[in-house]
Amino acid sequence: MADTMNHIERDVAALSNKPVDRLTTYPLAMGVCRRCVGDGKMTYREWASDPKKFASGFVAGQKAFDFDFAIGLMDLSVMAGDLGAHVRMDEQNTPFVDKTVVNNPEDYEKLRVPDIRQGRSHVLLEGTSLFVQELGSQVITAAFLEGPLLALTQSASAEKVFMDMVNNRSAVHKALQTMTDYDVEMVKAFAALKGKPAGFVWDYLWGNYSCLGDQEYEEFESQYARKLNKLVADNGMAMCIHNCADLPHLDTQITAFKPAIYSMAYYPLIPGSPSPKETIAKGYADNCLIGGQIDPQLFVRGSVEKMEATTMKLIAEVKTAMCQRGLHSKYCIASGCEVPPSVTTKLDNIKACVDTVKKYGQIQC
Ligand SMILES: [Zn+2]
Repeated sequence: MADTMNHIERDVAALSNKPVDRLTTYPLAMGVCRRCVGDGKMTYREWASDPKKFASGFVAGQKAFDFDFAIGLMDLSVMAGDLGAHVRMDEQNTPFVDKTVVNNPEDYEKLRVPDIRQGRSHVLLEGTSLFVQELGSQVITAAFLEGPLLALTQSASAEKVFMDMVNNRSAVHKALQTMTDYDVEMVKAFAALKGKPAGFVWDYLWGNYSCLGDQEYEEFESQYARKLNKLVADNGMAMCIHNCADLPHLDTQITAFKPAIYSMAYYPLIPGSPSPKETIAKGYADNCLIGGQIDPQLFVRGSVEKMEATTMKLIAEVKTAMCQRGLHSKYCIASGCEVPPSVTTKLDNIKACVDTVKKYGQIQC
């Protein structure tokens, strides 16, 4: 069936649980879309180091795949890198921190908010502004940034931070305050851009029962996150959350934080990991657009047929669960985390996912 709403009409309807011509869809294809630019040979390093190239990936990806949203994720080492950690950037893959900046307890207190007009913070800000100016009239756009605890674990290593939560608690809190101050500056800078994004996505990865209980999460992230969430809203952007953990803190991150969009993953082999139908049945989609939960690896390993079948199965599951709950549109067919930005990801699978939603994503209860 042909679309009868444009992207923004559909997005706005879905965000407020109004009927839609079909479900929204956004496989989280960010870095991989650089391969849609020109001859397809742009390296990850080029894409992540130049605002124009960063933006060009989103624009070309939109043209190629016709998504319903555009979310400006670069990668999770932007803040850590600008704080002084060494980021290993391979030509064609997600960069990662290979030398942390916190190596003993005193280092936590030495962290300083960097100059966000330089480094990859600057690339991210300017690049986001550019793609929002290009795509903001077609789709709902959002900025993307690491939350304070993720920025700290990226800078110091998760293992170290989790140990120091016990052994050097006040030092960890000082560092988290610095991360929060850095996040505050970034939120304000995103809101002041010429191309101001409509939404702002926090990566609050550590709200995960595999790692932290409710009390620890409250102490080491929520108390900072609540201020940041409010700051996003006060700056006129819709607050959204990405958390691809196996056992996410849904009561805190959805029910209490009240994001407009919550993007999440599903781990079928982990007992208790929330499936799409459980997430909807338990009411988490009642007031929040849930995005998920296709395995990102399927975009690398799966055939087009497998991708279509998986997408159809997810659509059917979501439709049934939403109809039972009396919902019209509060689910976006998406991947649980970023589609790997590697050269081995099959671009045809991204298209197959979107096209399957266009074909079979209509909802009639
Ligand atoms: Zn993720």
